[in-house]
Amino acid sequence: MFEYAPAPESRSIVDLAPSYGLFIDGAFDPPSADGGVFKTVNPASEEVLAEVSAAGPRDVDRAVAAARRAFGPWSALPGAERAKYLFRIARIIQERSRELAVLESLDNGKPIRESRDVDLPLVAAHFFYYAGWADKLRYAGLGPDPRPLGVAAQVIPWNFPLLMLAWKIAPALACGNTVVLKPAETTPLSALFFADVCRQAELPPGVVNILTGAGDTGRLLVEHPGVDKVAFTGSTEVGRQIARAVAGTRKRVGLELGGKAANIIFDDAPIDQAVEGIVNGIFFNQGHVCCAGSRLLVQESVYDEVLTALKRRMATLRVGDPLDKNTDIGAINSAAQLERIRTLSEVGDTEGAQRWSPACELPEHGYWFAPTIFTGVTQAHRIAREEIFGPVLSVLTFRTPAEAIEKANNTPYGLSAGVWSEKGSRILAVADKLRAGVVWANTFNKFDPTSPFGGYKESGYGREGGRHGLEAYLA
Ligand code: NDP
Repeated sequence: MFEYAPAPESRSIVDLAPSYGLFIDGAFDPPSADGGVFKTVNPASEEVLAEVSAAGPRDVDRAVAAARRAFGPWSALPGAERAKYLFRIARIIQERSRELAVLESLDNGKPIRESRDVDLPLVAAHFFYYAGWADKLRYAGLGPDPRPLGVAAQVIPWNFPLLMLAWKIAPALACGNTVVLKPAETTPLSALFFADVCRQAELPPGVVNILTGAGDTGRLLVEHPGVDKVAFTGSTEVGRQIARAVAGTRKRVGLELGGKAANIIFDDAPIDQAVEGIVNGIFFNQGHVCCAGSRLLVQESVYDEVLTALKRRMATLRVGDPLDKNTDIGAINSAAQLERIRTLSEVGDTEGAQRWSPACELPEHGYWFAPTIFTGVTQAHRIAREEIFGPVLSVLTFRTPAEAIEKANNTPYGLSAGVWSEKGSRILAVADKLRAGVVWANTFNKFDPTSPFGGYKESGYGREGGRHGLEAYLA
C-alpha cells in the first residue's frame, strides 16, 4: 500500500475555554456547592482539553425549574414561530460545522472525516427536518390536537455526542417541550458549544439547559419529580435502572439501548460491495455504534472469498490521528472503554475463537485498538452475544436462509440488521423475519432524519426520527 502524506485538519479553528460552567436558563454558571468539576481529555493523546462542571442536586433543581418556567411561553408559541428557531439553529450549525467537527473529533476521538461528513450534516438535517414539522403536528396522525409533554430529561452517550443531542432536542423543541440534557462525562464539549449556538439563535432562556456531569447527574435528572419525559440512549444496564426508577411515576420514557446486529451475506451478494458494507458496519466510528454490524453471518459457500476480500480491505484501513483527513479509524473514546474491548477480546481468545488483525502501528499515547476479526465463532461465545462496542467483528457461518434468520434473531437485542443479496424477493422475505428495528439491504449504517430508529427486546423501546419520533414528545 502506498502512503499518504499527513493531512491534518487545523485545530486552531476551535477556541477552547480552560473551564466551562453549566448552561441553565440561558447563562453559563459555575456549579453549586454540591456539584463539582472534572476534566475532559482528548482520547487520541490523553491531553486535558478543558475543565467541566459536574452538576449537583441543586443545579438539577435549578435547570428543571428553568425548563418549567420556559415551558408555558414556548409551548404557547405558534408552531411556525418555533420552527424559525429550529431553522436558525440548523443554519448556525451549518455555518459553524467546521469548528464543531474539529471539537467533536478532539473530545471523542472519531476521525474528522466522519465528524465532518457524517455527524455534522446529519445534525443540521435533524434540525431542518423537525423545523418542518413544528407547524404541522396536527397532521402527523397523532390526533387532532397533540400537546407537548412538558419538561424532557435527556441523557445521551459518548459515541455520537452532537448527533444524539440533535436526535433528542430537535423533536422535543418542535413539539413545544423544553429540555434539560446531560451529555456523557467523556464528551461534554460539543453540547456546551451547542448551548452557545442556542444563545446565538436567541432561543428563549430555559428552553434548552445543558447539565454536564457523570452518571450521578444523569440519575438525579431522570429521577427529578419535575420532569415529565425521560429520553435515554446508552447501555442496556443503565436503561434498566432508569426503567426501574421511573416505574410507577407519570413520566413517559423512551430507551434506545445496545445491540448486537447481524450482517448477513448470502452467496449471491455483490461481494465487493458487501465487504465495504461489513467494514462500514463494524469499523465506522471505531465500532462505537449501537447498531454496529458486530456479528457477520456469511453463507458457507462464499466464506473463503468473503474472508479473503475482507482481510485485504482491512489491511488498507488507516488507524491514527483523528484530525488527519486520511484516517479511517480513530481513538477509542476512553481508557475504560478500551479496557472493556480488551477484556471481551481476551474472552474470545480463551473461548477458542481465532483473532486476526492487519499489521498496523498504533500511536504511543492515547487509547487505541486495531481493527480485529474473530473467526471460528459460535453462538455460545460471549463475543457473539455481548456488545463489545469497539472495532471487533465476530464471524459466524450459515447454510440456509432459515439458519441465518435463526442465528440473527438469537440475541437478547434487536436494534438493527443487514442483508446482502442480489434478489429483492429474498431481501424482503428475510427482512420480514428479522426481529430488528432497522434492517438495511445491501448497505449498512445509513441514517436519515426522516427514518424512524429504535429497538426490540433489550434494545429498548420508542422510536426516534421521522414522524414516529414526534410521538415520543406529544400527548
Ligand atoms: P452508559 O449507559 O453508562 O452511559 C450513557 C449515559 O447515561 C451517559 O450520559 C451516562 O453518564 C449516563 N448514566 C450513567 N448512569 C446513569 C444512571 N444511573 N442514571 C442516568 N444516567 C446515567 O454507557 P457507558 O458509557 O458506561 O458505556 C458502557 C457500555 O454501554 C458500552 O461499552 C456499550 O456497550 C454500551 N453503550 C451503548 C450505547 C448505545 O448507543 N446503545 C451508547 C453508549 C454505551 P456518564 O457517561 O457521564 O457516566
